[in-house]
Amino acid sequence: MSRPAIAHIRLDAFRHNYRVAKQHYGGKALAVIKANAYGHGAVQCAKSIRSEADGFAVACLEEALQLREAGITEPILLLEGFFEAAELADIVAHDLWMVIHAEWQVEVLLAAKLKHAVHVWLKMDSGMHRVGLSPHEYGQAYTRLKAHQNVKNIVLMTHFANADNLASAHTMQQVQVFQETVQDLHHSANLQTSLANSAAILAWPQTKITAIEHHWSRPGIMLYGANPIIQSTADNILQPVMQLNSRIISTVKIKKGDAIGYGSIFTAERDTTVGIVACGYADGYPRSAKTGTPVAVDGNITRLIGRVSMDMLSVDLTDLPATGVGSQVELWGNHVSANAVASSAGTIAYELFCNVKRAHFQYFDPSNI
Ligand SMILES: *Cc1c(COP(=O)(O)O)cnc(C)c1O
Repeated sequence: MSRPAIAHIRLDAFRHNYRVAKQHYGGKALAVIKANAYGHGAVQCAKSIRSEADGFAVACLEEALQLREAGITEPILLLEGFFEAAELADIVAHDLWMVIHAEWQVEVLLAAKLKHAVHVWLKMDSGMHRVGLSPHEYGQAYTRLKAHQNVKNIVLMTHFANADNLASAHTMQQVQVFQETVQDLHHSANLQTSLANSAAILAWPQTKITAIEHHWSRPGIMLYGANPIIQSTADNILQPVMQLNSRIISTVKIKKGDAIGYGSIFTAERDTTVGIVACGYADGYPRSAKTGTPVAVDGNITRLIGRVSMDMLSVDLTDLPATGVGSQVELWGNHVSANAVASSAGTIAYELFCNVKRAHFQYFDPSNI
């Protein structure tokens, strides 16, 4: 057996979470699998729900082509559209949908000679102030696109800045800006809109705006089993998808007052049995995780101690006398939530997942056994 750092990916949990997203919000749901499915493996994740997914969303053409080459024929939305006009030929050839989030993209699309018309998701900046057409540019862009032969269909879209904050009034202010702008458009009865990310799906049912529209949600992080609403007290209805595991490869007994690891940042408060785990920041475990971060050893919660190094980290085994070399370690997954590690490291589960590398990936899907 080679180095024991392994990311186990439960595709049945991924599928469960996709179903939760759809049931929770209703309408259609575009599974967001950008950035290699938040580090989980985009092709494997897409294949596991392709028979039921309404479509997928990725960040760029390269990510979409990887899915097409793997045989994914379902709709794929490019969340940032194209970065230059030269991509349009591939977008048309592979039948991809695109977000249009800037005036320059409107101009490029309208000036292009396309083999056939494309699906556009026209993004409004309703208050996040990152990308999107401003509410006063939006109507004109919509009208021009709608009338043009290059455009088959337009979904009206915006993105929330603060949906993970239950106390913020900003989410409903964004909905109001969006709704007011959209009301002025001379659209068909068959209006399609898309507003909700995971946080809105889980916590803001009131962002579903009218009865007549068809809405598309865009769940991302919740598909991977992490609840973006950290202060949420609701029962966790999501299942973790990634379990980052390794093993204890060595133990060392130190005396009260001894320090361990680089920088000697941890000094033992008592005589301590230290377990050395084959996982470090080169595997994606955050170097910024502090002493005290939960780690599970043979299913028991203990703590990280000292500085995380590139290939190894240290845990406190003093109160777990049955553990030792060979014991199974879970860095996050079923016993330790990625959110708990993230908050101790000053980051979010999104970043932890995206950073996992070097560890071997093993996929598990009981429906395919
Ligand atoms: C990444 C992304 C999402 C998914 O967000 P989560 O918080 O992971 O659910 C949805 N919409 C857009 C436009 C995105 O870029």
